[in-house]
Amino acid sequence: MSELEEIVRQKIRADGPMSIGAFMALALGHPEHGYYMKGDPFGRDGDFVTAPEVSQLFGEMIGVWVADLWMQMGRPERLALVECGPGRGTLMADILRAGRNVVGFHEALRVHLVEMSPVLQEKQREALAGYDVVWHQDFERVPGDVPMIVIGNEFLDALPFEQYVGDVKRKVGLDEDAQLVFVPMEGVVYEFAPYRNDFMKYVCSRLKAQGGAALFIDYGHVRSGVGDTFQAIKGHEYVDVLSHIGTADLTSHVDFEALQRGVDIGIAGPVEQGDFLRALGIGLRARMLAGKADACQAEMIEKGLHRLIDSDQMGELFKVIGFYYHDKPLAPAGF
Ligand code: SAH
Repeated sequence: MSELEEIVRQKIRADGPMSIGAFMALALGHPEHGYYMKGDPFGRDGDFVTAPEVSQLFGEMIGVWVADLWMQMGRPERLALVECGPGRGTLMADILRAGRNVVGFHEALRVHLVEMSPVLQEKQREALAGYDVVWHQDFERVPGDVPMIVIGNEFLDALPFEQYVGDVKRKVGLDEDAQLVFVPMEGVVYEFAPYRNDFMKYVCSRLKAQGGAALFIDYGHVRSGVGDTFQAIKGHEYVDVLSHIGTADLTSHVDFEALQRGVDIGIAGPVEQGDFLRALGIGLRARMLAGKADACQAEMIEKGLHRLIDSDQMGELFKVIGFYYHDKPLAPAGF
């Protein structure tokens, strides 16, 4: 049994069953043993592969999106470019590379990374060497005095959420054989992510005060529904959510309808990732890159492209949503 599982059991013995939100916060974010706090879970040798790790095309398209918005905003002389949950720093590195020929863009930028994991902060430092970067434990600490553009890929799915069976909050408890179980075990499950929805409302309130836009990409559904989407991934396989505490990634699908409730600024989308990337010109960019590459690299570029946009791969399950507010009229690209 992992040390973290022992900690979870002790807590349940002391205080009774814990909510799924509390369980997830511990499993992912326990300062010493939490899944994200210990190591680098990404890539082929890790537990899962995210879009920026699939192909540089992903980050380049987001870079085009960011640079275009900065221009729509009237090229402000100062811009906070904020990424939530930057993982290995690959997405930000690709965004910055894609924008380097846009006159004045890099000069205006200051990069802010919201990252709770010291191990991943270190990885990000390596990936972004040479850039002016500031780290924050949470979004509240991002400075509020300049316009901003906020990005997050597979960040929202990692935020704790809750489940209900009828009116009863589902919890993690111990059965007679001291096994971790859900209580209640059976019934129709509704999911509700107050922490995630409040986070989004907070980001939008900051956009309203500072001007700018946000772009979040994640897997999930456009309309609220019923059903259990709690999942654990380890070594590229789905595993039992209660059995690998601190050694498997835990997520739930993002309810994009709930994310928009109570938001009083501009909303773009949600649209499917495949449509979004195609609208930004990913096909053309892939052909350009492949044209300069050898046959083997060209095949890799093609494979990456299809993984990102095909509907049986990441193209349909992943959705993109934008939020914006500015004294100039903004029309975020790709929607
Ligand atoms: N965006 C990256 C990584 C996604 S994994 C990519 O696409 O590859 C989720 C990321 O969010 C990790 O960097 C993790 O450490 C970070 N994270 C998760 N919960 C967080 C929280 N509550 N506060 C700050 N960072 C968090």
